[in-house]
Amino acid sequence: MTQQLNVDPAEVAKFSELAHRWWDTESEFKPLHQINPLRLGWIQDQVTLSGKRVLDVGCGGGILSDAMARAGAQVLGIDMSAKALGVAKLHALEANTSGVEYREVSAEQLAAECPATFDVVTCMEMLEHVPDPASVVRACASLVKPGGHVFFSTLNRNPKSFLFAIVGAEYVLGMLPKGTHEYGKFITPDELARFTRDAHLDVQRMKGLEYNPLTGRYWLSADTSVNYMVATLRPEV
Ligand code: SAH
Repeated sequence: MTQQLNVDPAEVAKFSELAHRWWDTESEFKPLHQINPLRLGWIQDQVTLSGKRVLDVGCGGGILSDAMARAGAQVLGIDMSAKALGVAKLHALEANTSGVEYREVSAEQLAAECPATFDVVTCMEMLEHVPDPASVVRACASLVKPGGHVFFSTLNRNPKSFLFAIVGAEYVLGMLPKGTHEYGKFITPDELARFTRDAHLDVQRMKGLEYNPLTGRYWLSADTSVNYMVATLRPEV
């Protein structure tokens, strides 16, 4: 029996269409480029990447995968957009990044293939694009080794996040194409904590990513009301 894929083809198509602009820091992907040093730094505050086997789930054009490889990790980036993966591979060639590989496979499929393989798993800005985010969280939990770390980021669901992430970013400032995000798919920290708990991951830390539309700057803060990250640990057996 073939397992039903936890993929929304319309979501993947949105990213495929824009894929050629992924490494243009002034494109629709500018916010990902801007937050990348912040999230990389936050991850590195908690784990040493050098020499580690890292999986980046929903890696897209590879902005985070590439940076983690440059920090010395052995990175596998996975995504369901062949176009985004093509761009990621091309970028690794052009930028001469070693230690990074990309593959079109779902988190669930990879979990069935090689459980407990990675020291670190990252899954950033991806859960709000899949039909069943809890299933991705479970797959990440099974892919990480006992004692390993899993990092998630997503968008919170409340009136402020609707205003900032959809009305502001897509309609007022035009930072993102209209329809990039669907409010109903946003995930509250409580919901994400429940998904991780059900997957037997322990939440270690949570951090907000704040944005000032006047200065165009992002910074890490305690405010998780819009964009936020969660660090979890798979307990040793
Ligand atoms: N994690 C990257 C890219 C985020 S954009 C970063 O933060 O820089 C969201 C990505 O999720 C896109 O590349 C899209 O193709 C991917 N995606 C959407 N649904 C997916 C699924 N079911 N499985 C894997 N990747 C998926």
